[in-house]
Amino acid sequence: MSILHSMYGQAIGDMLGEPVEGMSREEIAVQWRTVTDFISPPSITDDTMMTHLVARSVCEVGVVDRRRIAAEFLKNRVRIPRMGPTTARALSELASDPNFIPTTGTTNGAAMRAPAIAWLCPTEAVVRNTIESSLATHGDPVAIAGACAIACAVSHAINGANVRMTIRAGVCGASKVSVALASRITESVALASRVSLEDAIKTIGCGIETIEAVPAVFAIIAKYPDFKDGVLTAVNLGGDTDTIAGMVGAITGGMPDATIPSGWITACADSVGAMIEESWGCVQRLRDVTV
Ligand SMILES: [Mg+2]
Repeated sequence: MSILHSMYGQAIGDMLGEPVEGMSREEIAVQWRTVTDFISPPSITDDTMMTHLVARSVCEVGVVDRRRIAAEFLKNRVRIPRMGPTTARALSELASDPNFIPTTGTTNGAAMRAPAIAWLCPTEAVVRNTIESSLATHGDPVAIAGACAIACAVSHAINGANVRMTIRAGVCGASKVSVALASRITESVALASRVSLEDAIKTIGCGIETIEAVPAVFAIIAKYPDFKDGVLTAVNLGGDTDTIAGMVGAITGGMPDATIPSGWITACADSVGAMIEESWGCVQRLRDVTV
């Protein structure tokens, strides 16, 4: 069940962060004091849509193939809300040249959809397949390393790792592609253990760049490994709230004994339950997982 919980965790984080995406911590505090629940009506953004499009592509083809993932994105372009700058640019290139291989793109669009690879692939195949999936739109090593960090963390969480092992797996995954990002994650977790998370985020950042958003995710889960605490903290810190809360939710939702409020599961299922069920069915077929 932990894979299914990780799926719900990702979508719920995305939905909680959606209304305040791009706002600063101060702006959120002025308008909402503290976000503690969905600001209705809850809706997903590009994060959840693209994560499940990756899953659909892998299901249809049976392997992770960057060209097929890119084709799935292109086919569903109009259904992807609030698409990020790197993805939008790459899809424009791919529309005119199916052989386009991105070499740039430092934003967090590869990391946000990386949980799909962890849901679908065995742990030992996660890094290789996350690199392949990332290359559908993102070519910069930091963006790809960020995706590997998130995918490895989700993979370990859904396989029963505790928070310390999950963070270590994320650092290890990042280091396979970018030692700089791996170091940044380690430093961010250490900083958050010494000062308040709000102060740590002033140094780490929480914007759309992978070098900010992915270390922020690990600082948050180090401090708040509980699902509800983690996603709400991510939302209230501001910045790229939907993506950071979505990644936090995918990791902490998948952890053993994670508790996701049942009202949030119901609201999420009412909105995107069919999409999650389709991916869950695919995961069961590919991994032979039984509930
Ligand atoms: Mg988004």
